[in-house]
Amino acid sequence: MYDVIIIGSGPAGLSASVYAKRAGLKALTLEKNPVSGGQVLNTYEVDNYLGLPGINGFDMGMKFREHADGLGCEFQTAEVLSVCKEHREEKQLKAASVNETAVDAAFEPVRAQGFMIETDEGVFRAKAVVAAMGAVHAKLGIPGEEEMAGRGVSYCATCDGAFFRGKVTAVIGGGDVAVEDAIFLARGCEKVYLIHRRDELRAAKILQEEVMSLPNVEIIWDTVAEKIEGNGQVEGISLKNVKTGDKMELPVDGVFVAVGILPDSEILKEIVNCDPKGYVLAGEDGVTDVPGIFAAGDIRSKKLRQIVTAVADGASAIQSVQEYLLQAKITK
Ligand code: NAP
Repeated sequence: MYDVIIIGSGPAGLSASVYAKRAGLKALTLEKNPVSGGQVLNTYEVDNYLGLPGINGFDMGMKFREHADGLGCEFQTAEVLSVCKEHREEKQLKAASVNETAVDAAFEPVRAQGFMIETDEGVFRAKAVVAAMGAVHAKLGIPGEEEMAGRGVSYCATCDGAFFRGKVTAVIGGGDVAVEDAIFLARGCEKVYLIHRRDELRAAKILQEEVMSLPNVEIIWDTVAEKIEGNGQVEGISLKNVKTGDKMELPVDGVFVAVGILPDSEILKEIVNCDPKGYVLAGEDGVTDVPGIFAAGDIRSKKLRQIVTAVADGASAIQSVQEYLLQAKITK
């Protein structure tokens, strides 16, 4: 029985692991992939995390993990299949009584709540759970996307960009990820189209300025992709201008989809309150509507999804776990 099981080893989960260890909690972090870091791993360069300017995303993930390893945090690679509440009997010290001398008589059984976490590597039990599963890439849902995923359609420029060296690619989206992807791809591709559905990018101003300064990046405004063309391999995209209704075919070798993220909250949806998009409803303290379940990082309903806010969430969630364990009198 762990005091807390942390699900996910992105910045929120790793921060929670470090804080749990330092708080003296018996904690286990479950990670789906054997490499920690979460979405950070797919980022070429992170330039807005205090103290580590311009760090490569992969290196940052490794640094975070090394920190946790250095403190002796416990990790297990396992995919969580379900999280269930369970009640168990625990012995709790009775109110002091002068007549009771026998140790057994000084304790009374109480019903305590815990959680059973079923994974592909077996079942784990904990008094509290921190959900830090983060988010997954959103899809466009247009014809050709699913069929040619991995055959020219990609959701990760830093992972797949090298396959398109000297070629023509398109990035779809207007947020930080889309613009960062376009900047990254422009280093190796002959030409990069950035296709955005509005006439203004959502990405940080500094990224906008950089992408607009690149001679081999062309932004196609007010335009949506209707179909990804190709015969088993991407050959182009069918586009539509949402203002004029004009349609065009754009020959490209690769399409990078960067239209946002969706919370990876499937395993919790049945037991914890989520918003309509699936983000777990929890405040900055990570407290959800289910006592003992806490949320941290991109999975939580919040305004600003950044590495620094994920790291802060991990710390706050562990503070809440400690308060919960004390209140519920189920701490050691
Ligand atoms: P995002 O900020 O939600 O941006 C998604 C983009 O995709 C938006 O421009 C959106 O258009 C567009 N879009 C959404 N659905 C679309 C569709 N069906 N067709 C065409 N376009 C569509 O997502 P993100 O860029 O993946 O970033 C996720 C989070 O991580 C954000 O909070 C971001 O700030 C953060 N992040 C931060 C950094 C950094 O600080 N360096 C780096 C990466 C990510 P509209 O603009 O019209 O809505």
